[in-house]
Amino acid sequence: MDTEVIGQIRQSVAQLCGDFPGSYWQEKDRERAYPSEFVKALTEAGLLASLIPEEYGGAGLPLSVASAILEEIHANGCNGAACHAQMYTMGTILRHGSEEQRKTYLPKIATGELRLQAFAVTEPTAGTDTSSISTMAVRDGDEFVINGQKVWTSRAEYSDLMILLARTTPKDKVKKRTDGLSVFLIDMRKAVGNGMTIRPIRTMINHATTEVFFDNLRIPADSLIGEEGKGFKYVLTGMNAERILIASECIGDARWFVETASNYVRDRQVFGRPIGQNQGVQFPIARSYAQAEAANLMVQKACSLYDQGVKCGAEANMAKMLASEASWAAGEACLQSHGGFGFAEEYDVERKYRETRLYQIAPISTNLILSFIAEHELGLPRSY
Ligand SMILES: Cc1cc2nc3c(=O)[nH]c(=O)nc-3n(C[C@H](O)[C@H](O)[C@H](O)COP(=O)(O)OP(=O)(O)OC[C@H]3O[C@@H](n4cnc5c(N)ncnc54)[C@H](O)[C@@H]3O)c2cc1C
Repeated sequence: MDTEVIGQIRQSVAQLCGDFPGSYWQEKDRERAYPSEFVKALTEAGLLASLIPEEYGGAGLPLSVASAILEEIHANGCNGAACHAQMYTMGTILRHGSEEQRKTYLPKIATGELRLQAFAVTEPTAGTDTSSISTMAVRDGDEFVINGQKVWTSRAEYSDLMILLARTTPKDKVKKRTDGLSVFLIDMRKAVGNGMTIRPIRTMINHATTEVFFDNLRIPADSLIGEEGKGFKYVLTGMNAERILIASECIGDARWFVETASNYVRDRQVFGRPIGQNQGVQFPIARSYAQAEAANLMVQKACSLYDQGVKCGAEANMAKMLASEASWAAGEACLQSHGGFGFAEEYDVERKYRETRLYQIAPISTNLILSFIAEHELGLPRSY
């Protein structure tokens, strides 16, 4: 896409973010409150519908633009985690849903009338081993009955719809352990209180994450997306977009940390000169800048492959790993450069530092990315 157009989109995102200064995020963080005003502003600007094709009411933009939007949000001190899923979770309906499901839901997701922000995969006992999830959906006439539990289902309290991965055939009855998993689109407005219970989890960051319990929740059979038993594959195809977009947020965080650190050390005088004159202060910032620039090249490569419809699993994973490590290095340099003031809430450094740490764990932890590269790129034996 035209770099001038992307530049204009970046500019309008930065302008929108200007209405949400550090004090806004500090208050939300303190109260662990959902940034509804920010999400509303992004929705009204059509930014969260950027990946939805035009025929379904979205902007039909490529992933590289969605990536620029999220990067810019984070580079401007804001946080897209409250709503980034609204951008890509719809991909499961778009790629694997029926035309009727696409027509029913995508236009409403595009306008923000329906929020699809909850993506329920992780379970407390299965952890990263998704094939071991035990939430079951059992067919009963023209319904499915769901029992089980999810954890870390972010934004569930602020979503109308949920994409749920559940077993439809027990693990011991399938040939391949990833078979027998199915994806459902659940209308949470009907489900909560009727078999679905949501409990918020307070965490070290303001992330609106929850645990969700299913106790004989009945959903219509046409909530199934695609073919029964093929859900693992469907979920996997969406994960590349998610990883690339999260990587972009990390690049944005790194940019914020590098700029904030550079500004501070240029001004802060100790021993009668700017602390930024000391190489011991300059070098970690300069190093993290170099790391972020390199990681960004991998993000761009992953975006480009994704937008061409080419295989990009390795690049998406590497982008997420490198970008999350670069943002952490930049956060570390920024915090250290600020000395004691780095701990003060009003500087936003400690908040961004906590926020960016998540991305070495979610949506997939670094070890699992390294295992993927070792096995699939280097041909080494599978380690687990
Ligand atoms: C704030 C937050 C929001 C989240 N939002 C969502 C969401 O919206 N939807 C959702 O479904 N999930 C969500 N998650 C879950 C997230 O994707 C998982 O926490 C993450 O994938 C790690 O899984 P786990 O916590 O079960 O860790 P585990 O699988 O228990 O792993 C713990 C540690 O052991 C390591 N490890 C495990 N197995 C291996 C191995 N074979 N080799 C080497 N190392 C290994 C891991 O790398 C990790 O460091 C969220 C998590 C958090 C913290």
